[in-house]
Amino acid sequence: MKTIGLIGGMSWESTVEYYRIVNERVAHRLGGLHSARCVLYSFDFDEIETLQRRGAWDEATRRMIDAARAVERAGADFLVICTNTMHKMAGDVQAAVRLPLLHIADATAERIQAAELHKVGLLATRFTMEEDFYKGRLVAKHGLDVVVPAEPERRVVHDVIYNELCRGEIKDESRRQFRAIIERLADAGCAGIILGCTEIGLLIKQEHCSLPLFDTAVIHAEAAAEFALA
Ligand code: GLU
Repeated sequence: MKTIGLIGGMSWESTVEYYRIVNERVAHRLGGLHSARCVLYSFDFDEIETLQRRGAWDEATRRMIDAARAVERAGADFLVICTNTMHKMAGDVQAAVRLPLLHIADATAERIQAAELHKVGLLATRFTMEEDFYKGRLVAKHGLDVVVPAEPERRVVHDVIYNELCRGEIKDESRRQFRAIIERLADAGCAGIILGCTEIGLLIKQEHCSLPLFDTAVIHAEAAAEFALA
């Protein structure tokens, strides 16, 4: 079994899900007392969020590269960045280490294609919804059609992620708002929804929604466990 190198703490509310899922998956596949071999580098998310909000992406990239190198030195065989947003610098991180990086958008696109869907809605942080590093990859590399909510709705999604979900707060009112946003994406022709922030699955589950949901934290963690076992 390979050793999974997790870069997490962004936020820890979702990293704990990654840790649970990789262990459950390995235990399920190998049985007995087996669990996932992993190394975890966990950030203080307040520091990362401050860099994001100030647009200090060069410094954020340096921190991510330092984390990736620490995980490499600690014996990981591959890298898993436990957040969609911080895949903004995935290319720089990949270039700085010898380890392969398991990209969250690739793992997610493979699931969407396996479900034979093409047009999907994307709920995520403002960075992930509005910039090209994530949507662009889904479109150019995987041929998907990706729709994001309109501006006032993007603000709701972004604010709920940082002000509630990354602080462990799960509110019915926010779930109601997310469901309404998903309904409008369905009206726009989306056949599935990417939960493109690793905390959204804590708020919205498949039972809250008739469209198929693609929870990036679950998909990415399962892909990591499978890659470790392959
Ligand atoms: N975990 C979130 C994501 O998947 C947001 C936190 C962050 O900015 O990294 O994008």
